[in-house]
Amino acid sequence: MASNATAADVPAGTEAEDEPVDEESAQKTALRQLEHAADHLELDPNVVERLKHPAHVHEVNVPIERDDGSLEVYTGYRVQHDSVRGPFKGGLRYHPEVTREECIGLSMWMTWKCAVMDIPFGGAKGGIIVDPKDLSEAETERLTRRFTEEIRDAIGPNKDIPAPDMGTDPQTMSWLMDAYSMQQGETIPGVVTGKPPVVGGSEGREEAPGRSVAIVTREACDYYDQPLEETTVAVQGFGSVGANAARLLDEWGATVVAISDVNGAAYDPDGIPVQEIPSHDEEPEAVTEYANAHADQIITNEKLLQLDVDVLIPAAIGNVITEANADDVRASLVVEGANGPTTSAADAILTERGIPVIPDILANAGGVTVSYFEWLQDINRRSWSLERVNSELEAEMEAAWNAVQREVDDRGVTWRDATYIVALDRIGRAHEARGLWP
Ligand code: GLU
Repeated sequence: MASNATAADVPAGTEAEDEPVDEESAQKTALRQLEHAADHLELDPNVVERLKHPAHVHEVNVPIERDDGSLEVYTGYRVQHDSVRGPFKGGLRYHPEVTREECIGLSMWMTWKCAVMDIPFGGAKGGIIVDPKDLSEAETERLTRRFTEEIRDAIGPNKDIPAPDMGTDPQTMSWLMDAYSMQQGETIPGVVTGKPPVVGGSEGREEAPGRSVAIVTREACDYYDQPLEETTVAVQGFGSVGANAARLLDEWGATVVAISDVNGAAYDPDGIPVQEIPSHDEEPEAVTEYANAHADQIITNEKLLQLDVDVLIPAAIGNVITEANADDVRASLVVEGANGPTTSAADAILTERGIPVIPDILANAGGVTVSYFEWLQDINRRSWSLERVNSELEAEMEAAWNAVQREVDDRGVTWRDATYIVALDRIGRAHEARGLWP
């Protein structure tokens, strides 16, 4: 990958092994989960070994002109983990804590996520080390366009298809699509998903990760004979995933008793009016304002995780349920809305305590599933109605849920292990069928 600043295209699985890896890094967690799940399957150990390493790690340095005329260089990554089942696929994150390890771990999760949904994509993830709040809109546009140019050879509708993630949105995807298309000399909407519908985005895409979290919560409650109408839910994070999940569950009869943003949480045992509170994306200060207006309901984010509720949905950031607080979780069920909210050590504690955890790669997989629908619409140059998107999403979620539930029932394993078993079995068989060449 060329860059006019220093750039490196790091070959698969080289430096990663020599670098000290943070105990709780997404890469470490993803590797532990892979090894753990592989123990349950008779997978060729050579295939497991391949899956421990991303196929490509692109690191680029992205120079942009700031509004004041100065120049700043930002480091970005695009990690492509595995493409045995189809083009690499995964989000692009703008966040100050983006690291190489995080992108590797998140790219592995995308490989499993696409496989458990049985959609024909592999896994990728990218990010730029930047706090998007520090950039003007024009600077964000320049950063996105230049980053796209730096990774242009690595992406494409049949190669690697980025999508929104933390700190990026449909507008970001629109700039990416435009920069790529202008350089290729033709409009290529299928290079990226999560675009606004006016440039080939799909209806229902923004809501999809939250919708799948709600669907999976509904299925899990049903599995544990817990009527939704009698279910209390605490949601950490009121961004796209948390807010949409909260609103749907509220619509379906559950009582959302707590929501939060980065500043703190509001808790009302009688229920929070989640339909009326704008999400973080719609109005960044809305949860804080709501909490301030109901001062008697203010609690900390940490307390939210400890509420005595039926369902806890961590839908903000990674690593929030850790070894230090897993013993304090009092929910009867955890549904992971964010990617990687539970560390491996915390996962073991929750399992030991008999608290089921429905994993991220199943629960929030509605996002990439509707991305797949978007890609199909782009390739066919024909858009689907919102009704069609939602009903096909419902069908895909149900199929994935049923496949995972079968493993839970047959093998007596956790939901996470069952999900990995379904995903790894599909990936492993694809690798075995294709073989290693050259
Ligand atoms: N960033 C989302 C995820 O983590 C969506 C990825 C996609 O649609 O490609 O699942």
